Amino acid sequence: MDRNQVLSKLPKVGDLLDSERWAPLLARYSRIQVKAALEPVLNQYREQLQAGKGGIPAPDTLLHRVEANLDRLAKAGPAPALNATGVIIHTNLGRAPLAPAAREAALAAAAYCNLELDLASGERGSRHSHVETLLCRLTGAPAAMVVNNNAGAVLLALSTVARGGEAVISRGQLVEIGGSFRIPAVMAESGVRLVEVGTTNKTYIEDYRRAITDETRALVRVHPSNYRVVGFEHQVCLAALVELGRHKGLPVLDDLGSGILVDLSAWGIDEPTVQESVAAGAELVCFSGDKLLGGPQCGIMVGSEGSVAALKRHPLARALRCGKTTLAALSATLALYLKPEGWRQVPVLAMLTQPLDEVRERAERLAKLLHPLPLAIAIEENVSPVGGGALPLHRLETRVVRIDPGPLRAATLAAALRHGRPPLIARMQDDQLLLDLRTLADEEVEPAAAAVASALEVMGGE
Ligand SMILES: *Cc1c(COP(=O)(O)O)cnc(C)c1O
Repeated sequence: MDRNQVLSKLPKVGDLLDSERWAPLLARYSRIQVKAALEPVLNQYREQLQAGKGGIPAPDTLLHRVEANLDRLAKAGPAPALNATGVIIHTNLGRAPLAPAAREAALAAAAYCNLELDLASGERGSRHSHVETLLCRLTGAPAAMVVNNNAGAVLLALSTVARGGEAVISRGQLVEIGGSFRIPAVMAESGVRLVEVGTTNKTYIEDYRRAITDETRALVRVHPSNYRVVGFEHQVCLAALVELGRHKGLPVLDDLGSGILVDLSAWGIDEPTVQESVAAGAELVCFSGDKLLGGPQCGIMVGSEGSVAALKRHPLARALRCGKTTLAALSATLALYLKPEGWRQVPVLAMLTQPLDEVRERAERLAKLLHPLPLAIAIEENVSPVGGGALPLHRLETRVVRIDPGPLRAATLAAALRHGRPPLIARMQDDQLLLDLRTLADEEVEPAAAAVASALEVMGGE
């Protein structure tokens, strides 16, 4: 048979789609999509045949490939994963896991909801109103507003307060948060000229004072949330910056980053609270909703009535606004903080303060469940990084289940675990796999053990 004869044996798209065998797939996916998934598969066979390689695929091979492709597409996610990394605020795993109350609120608000309807008057309301009072009560600020994320909040705050002018900031605070978020770049985008003062390790109030000109519109402080300068260092405290600002008629913008609402110093967590920034007199305080606050992705700004009103009027406010499910989840998360010790129901803070005994208990349960598998298992002491650009120096004692995969490579097992349903994301250390029990909930211990068992099965089957 010559090449053209072989090629002509390749099934035709139309024939396949009209065949009885393909009917069930066409009941699940539209004809256009089945065709779009099939054509590249057929092209691949055609190219191989033209190159004199391969043969004609069995009819069901085509069907299964197309079906698998469409099923993958239909489950593109993001979908739940088991976090055994120990990194509490893991940006790649969606940062803060929401409290059950916040998940329920988001789901309920996904239907019609009173997003911008004032139920009392029947008139148009404001989407900001749902969380503004809560934020004011919790932080002590007179006004508040929420946007899509904290990068957006900083952009909006700078643009509102200082556009066209200069903002003074310490060289020790020109932070990169990750990705393309660098404070100097955000300032440039907001139309504000950056005036850097001091040095990387030391900045004094005199440095700020000397930098103030007629063009100065704001003093900016950025909390070094994801790093610390230790040793020979000095930064100006917020209160002193506010005092200088008052004297010169300039507002102080405070980017707190992580935005914690409770004082957890009793747990060794040394992080400035939002309330402290408000009390110190910052004009606007910006922070993330999904770091130490433990809510959905959003950026929160609290501050003076005048400045928050200006934020709301800014054209960027519309571009940065967040949706109803976010606002509902945030509102339900904030409501937890109204209760006595309510922060304990916020998963991020619960994990951060969970006694080691409870983590160890889970490690023991997991080790027991893994015992029958052909793996060397040990429970070990380790340290969980908090992650998410928060508390970089905090050493959180934890217990991990160490898996020595023997002749299998740890990386191979880690990859098989990532391909599971749900995926289990582990930590790698010295070609061993560590499962950190600080970030696995009680009810996730069994699914985690099942995930390891099925990963081994898949690997054994290959
Ligand atoms: C994380 C962080 C940001 C950015 O917040 P997102 O919510 O990720 O947009 C900005 N500033 C500081 C200091 C941060 O830590």
